[in-house]
Amino acid sequence: TATGAALQIEGLTVGYGGAPVLHGVSIDLHPGEVVALLGANGAGKTTLLRALAGLVHVASGTVRLDGTDLTRTRTEDRARRGLALVPDGQSVVAELTVDENLRLGALWRHRGRAREQAIAGVYELFEPLARRRAAAGHQLSGGERQMLALGRALIAEPTLLALDEPSLGLAPLVVAQLMATLRDAAARRGLTVLLAEQNVTSALSIADRGVVLDLGRVVAAAAASDLAADAALRHAYLGF
Ligand code: ATP
Repeated sequence: TATGAALQIEGLTVGYGGAPVLHGVSIDLHPGEVVALLGANGAGKTTLLRALAGLVHVASGTVRLDGTDLTRTRTEDRARRGLALVPDGQSVVAELTVDENLRLGALWRHRGRAREQAIAGVYELFEPLARRRAAAGHQLSGGERQMLALGRALIAEPTLLALDEPSLGLAPLVVAQLMATLRDAAARRGLTVLLAEQNVTSALSIADRGVVLDLGRVVAAAAASDLAADAALRHAYLGF
């Protein structure tokens, strides 16, 4: 693209029938960048991710992935083009084992040997999951479930990974491990990551940049270290 952005969100306005929830939001992600999407409860983070995945109607604005306009593209076609949304750990199938959950993620992307390799690749990345491959989804801890949701998304070999509050409900130590794993996976696979989080400190600890949403508008965008150091901004929009 002209800007070289991996993901280019421009003037995105989205609502659920009533007044818009996002008002002309613009965010660029450069290839390989980890960007934290921050903001209080109800700021519009989930809605933005849903719009990226094509799960909610976009009133105006555009979403471009590697220069291609995907604003009106179906969800499954966006996935084929490399966009993966990791919803929370609830998306893990409780009745299926870890291995079966991963196989489910690999179904449409890989066959035969390629499928086995993709699954082995996830176990290499997430060793705790490999030890739990025969455990059912409902037997997993919150951290393991989140890791499985992430692993399942990675099997599709996305170029852009969007995550919705992966730290939700996890103990601090587990959050730290998950963030480190995410950072590592992104670096190893050259992924571009948009990480929606209420856990500001954790998200900024692995992000290159942060974008702050408030009432559906971008109110700040800066290097992660600058945002972390900005006490006035933290106090105004991030609640600490
Ligand atoms: P949270 O961390 O609570 O998920 P968020 O920043 O992700 O917050 P959204 O979930 O995107 O925010 O919600 C933004 C606004 O949109 C809120 O005011 C919410 O009430 C509203 N909203 C979300 N989903 C719907 C829906 N399905 N129908 C109508 N309004 C909705």
